[in-house]
Amino acid sequence: MILDGKALSIKILDKVKERVSNLEKQPHLVVILVGNNSASEIYVKNKQIAAENVGIKSTVLKLPESVSEEFLLEKIKEYNENPDVTGILVQLPLPAHIDKNKVVMTISPKKDVDGFTPENVGRLAIGLTPYFYPATPQGIIMLLDEYNIPIEGSDAVVIGRSNIVGKPVAQMLLQRNATVTLCHSYTKDLENKIKTADIVISAVGNKIVRCKMDKKNSVVVDVGIFRDSNGRLTGDVDFDLVSMSAGYISPVPGGVGPMTIASLMYNASKVY
Ligand code: NAP
Repeated sequence: MILDGKALSIKILDKVKERVSNLEKQPHLVVILVGNNSASEIYVKNKQIAAENVGIKSTVLKLPESVSEEFLLEKIKEYNENPDVTGILVQLPLPAHIDKNKVVMTISPKKDVDGFTPENVGRLAIGLTPYFYPATPQGIIMLLDEYNIPIEGSDAVVIGRSNIVGKPVAQMLLQRNATVTLCHSYTKDLENKIKTADIVISAVGNKIVRCKMDKKNSVVVDVGIFRDSNGRLTGDVDFDLVSMSAGYISPVPGGVGPMTIASLMYNASKVY
């Protein structure tokens, strides 16, 4: 069965829109974009369109590549203090002269719609509910829940240990009582770990999942997104091969990608 992220994202965005229309205060998302990275510009534009579509006010603060770290931190502090602003997102990557960690740590945890601040990461790590879960991991869990995939007691293999996907999704699965194996480039015998898992979540950016799954109800979620040698968008999973043996599989495109934006809008509609 296909885990249809596109279809679920439409349902979630409809719900977010309804929720926003019933709020007393309109949520206001500020997206800060530094420099002229063309991919970042596209991501920011898409976030702005998605926000407008669900009735969330959005402001994009575009700063030049040369902006000082001090200026950027001051701007974030102003938005933290501004009661009209309910969500703040700094588009990454940032220019080399700006300390990304300092920037993230300056965002108020209650406005941190990306869920990247130490307080939100820490709350997740110690088993508390963060103010915001990071968008992609939350989108993945929403997708599993939509298809009633049992997480509790499952053997889950997460491939990739980034702060934005691998680590937080592993924490979220753990919080839901899965037994989690978090794999990375030093992991030995990866194929065997993948084959025997109940749930595989791959966030690498390389064709890494290319084996038959042992369990017929196994679930394979493909987070990876990159262009193959023909310039086509593809994911980490050899879809044709793995779909023959897995019970559930998410496609690329149309799987985790649309869930990420829906999940971000769900976060942006929260007003603390
Ligand atoms: P990342 O920072 O790009 O890191 C990649 C991870 O993969 C690292 O932890 C690395 O291990 C691991 N890795 C690399 N080669 C490996 C191998 N041979 N075996 C096992 N693990 C290996 O991770 P990311 O930012 O999470 O991005 C991963 C992919 O997901 C990218 O394609 C990205 O575009 C995509 N992505 C998609 C969405 C979406 O919404 N669909 C959102 C975010 C990211 P080490 O730590 O040991 O180097």
